[in-house]
Amino acid sequence: MALSEERRRARRKKQRRQAMIILTALALIAALLITGLFFGIRGLVRLFTGKKGGEAAPTAVTETVNTADGILQEAERLAAGYDYDGAIRLIQGFDGYTSEAMLTDAVARFEATKTTLSAANLNEVTHVFFHTLIKDNAKAFDGEYTEDGYNQYMTTISEFEAMLRIMHERGYVLVNLDDMAKVVTDENGNTHMEACEILLPPGKKPVVMSQDDVSYYQYMIGDGFASRIVIGEDGYPTCEYEEDDGTVVRGDFDLVPILEKFIQAHPDFSYQGARATLAITGYDGVLGYRTCPSGEGYHESEIEKARAVADRMRELGWVFASHSWGHQLYGSISVEKLREDSTKWENEVQPILGETDIIIYAHGEDIAGIENYTSENEKYNILRQCGFRYFCNVDAHTYWVQLTDEYLRQGRRNLDGYRMYYNPEMLEDLFPVSEVWDNGRPTPVPAI
Ligand SMILES: [Zn+2]
Repeated sequence: MALSEERRRARRKKQRRQAMIILTALALIAALLITGLFFGIRGLVRLFTGKKGGEAAPTAVTETVNTADGILQEAERLAAGYDYDGAIRLIQGFDGYTSEAMLTDAVARFEATKTTLSAANLNEVTHVFFHTLIKDNAKAFDGEYTEDGYNQYMTTISEFEAMLRIMHERGYVLVNLDDMAKVVTDENGNTHMEACEILLPPGKKPVVMSQDDVSYYQYMIGDGFASRIVIGEDGYPTCEYEEDDGTVVRGDFDLVPILEKFIQAHPDFSYQGARATLAITGYDGVLGYRTCPSGEGYHESEIEKARAVADRMRELGWVFASHSWGHQLYGSISVEKLREDSTKWENEVQPILGETDIIIYAHGEDIAGIENYTSENEKYNILRQCGFRYFCNVDAHTYWVQLTDEYLRQGRRNLDGYRMYYNPEMLEDLFPVSEVWDNGRPTPVPAI
């Protein structure tokens, strides 16, 4: 009896152990199933919404979309920016698009619009440029020794916004320099320039835009300008501005964020994602960061910060150009000095902003007259060796374009206080000066 009692107890113990093992195994399986289900559902959600769970709002311009609605929305955005082929490709890449009427209708609509497009005359592409925009008129026009220069060479935020609005209304569409011509490498590895077609609907006109000296130089501190470009929490560039009491505020205080927002609101103002080209020196840092090792306020960490901003801006379509390292007069200085200066830009600025094949001459001073550059021009040879293929000077004419099989050269028009005050008639193709003029600007604008 005692024995069988002991045996029963042993059997019960064994049964309990087996039950425990089965329960543990079941619990494990359940855990695995739940986990799998969770990730599986999350994956499905991602697949259908194109959203990445757990991440902040999407910041990239192009986002993977996987619903008919999402595809249509993205295609409309591309088509609004004149990329009809891209829009059609996107729709046709969607599984079963032929059974979605809204998608086939859109393809038909884009195809129809394509038949109305015509190639812009490359010799009639105008190029306008600005300096850092004035955020606070009272501080820029305060009677200090800098006032005259600001009044002559700068544009206020309200003027810039009015110009954008009117130019958009008049059918202007922002294009990049490489929409006009691009570098092509042949089978022998030689490069040459080739004209491109800018295809626009009737009534639309291309315009290139650039901004010079986007460094937020230290001499401008306290004069009513932004202090640097940063990437905001939404993933888009914005500006910092320092108030009198030292408080730093963020907002659309210069061309970059203003234009970025304008294009988001009016995608038809940008040809296939074009933005402006920013001409940048090196001697006092870039984008408001004190990145110049021999300059005032230098700190190594500034380089990393500036690079992160530049990377994101390039992703969004912004283009960087050399404006010489030391804001040098490339036409007047010696060949040796030019070589030295361009090497400095390559060593100090290029690692931050990335490679560029565009040079925007400081002071607008070109290395030659209107005749073509030739290999007899030693300065041209140096700049060509540095990789430059796009050369921009300053020219008051509506258009000045020189395209050879080696380079594209273009004149740029200053839309500043000086030009608006003295030659409003020269800007009539763009806007009536009377409708953009900022009354906060002192008159007369000093003569140069
Ligand atoms: Zn400059």
